[in-house]
Amino acid sequence: MDWYTTLIEWLQRFSVVYGILTVRYVVIAGLAFLIVWKLLSRRLAHKYIQPDRRPSRENILHEVKYSFMTFFVFGLVGVFMFEATRNGWTRIYRDVGEFGWAYFFLSLVGTILIHDAYFYWTHRFMHWKKIFKHVHLVHHRSTNPTPWAAFSFHPLEAIIEAGIVPLVAFLYPIHAGALLIFLFYMTALNVLGHLGYELFPSGFTRKRATLWHNTSTHHNMHHKYFNCNYGLYFNWWDRFMRTNHPEYHEQFETRASARASAAASRQKDGLSSPDIAAL
Ligand SMILES: [Zn+2]
Ligand SMILES: [Zn+2]
Repeated sequence: MDWYTTLIEWLQRFSVVYGILTVRYVVIAGLAFLIVWKLLSRRLAHKYIQPDRRPSRENILHEVKYSFMTFFVFGLVGVFMFEATRNGWTRIYRDVGEFGWAYFFLSLVGTILIHDAYFYWTHRFMHWKKIFKHVHLVHHRSTNPTPWAAFSFHPLEAIIEAGIVPLVAFLYPIHAGALLIFLFYMTALNVLGHLGYELFPSGFTRKRATLWHNTSTHHNMHHKYFNCNYGLYFNWWDRFMRTNHPEYHEQFETRASARASAAASRQKDGLSSPDIAAL
């Protein structure tokens, strides 16, 4: 095969991966934004986490612009992964029967747990003073993020974030479907972290059955204060490393237990609810 045909083939694959990533982002982040920030914004005003701060049109355009740049990096990694799998370098498999359904689900849960640790520690690394400005500041331009911030990364951060896929695929057998489910789950939870509204019920961060899971308030506070709440899916690492914000539970409860009537009166005074009608 000559180099021209190979190049066209790679470009085609890149376009397909870029397309899938864009659709995934626009559908999940877009739906969250449309439903929570547009259609239900008044009804959910009491759940809005930072009532004193409103993202501007520029903030949101920044989040979307950098997310599309991130997909460029992710697209290149996708093409590399396709080539690597075709050459038998990765451990991605297609026949569920090879390892059975139990392994399918075990590898899926294991991948989420591994990614949780990967995210926490790479995130801590990116907050290291010497590199923060060059790698992670783009993401922290959003001090009150919207769902569109889910992939708003500097290209260098995008490379770090993409690293989980080759790490998993080279490390242990994973079914292509399990990998796909993981990527969608990751996107959904990522959007939840940047939702800007707290939809979990009061007591969620204290009850045994749920306290291990993170909330929208958790990551929103990371964007507000920078040096706390580094975890993605679960609260284990932040607890273990004592990096939860000291007021995490209180601030969560403020939103989770807020009543609609209080927000309505605040709205009357013109103090609450993001005004994004101009968008
Ligand atoms: Zn950060
Ligand atoms: Zn974030």
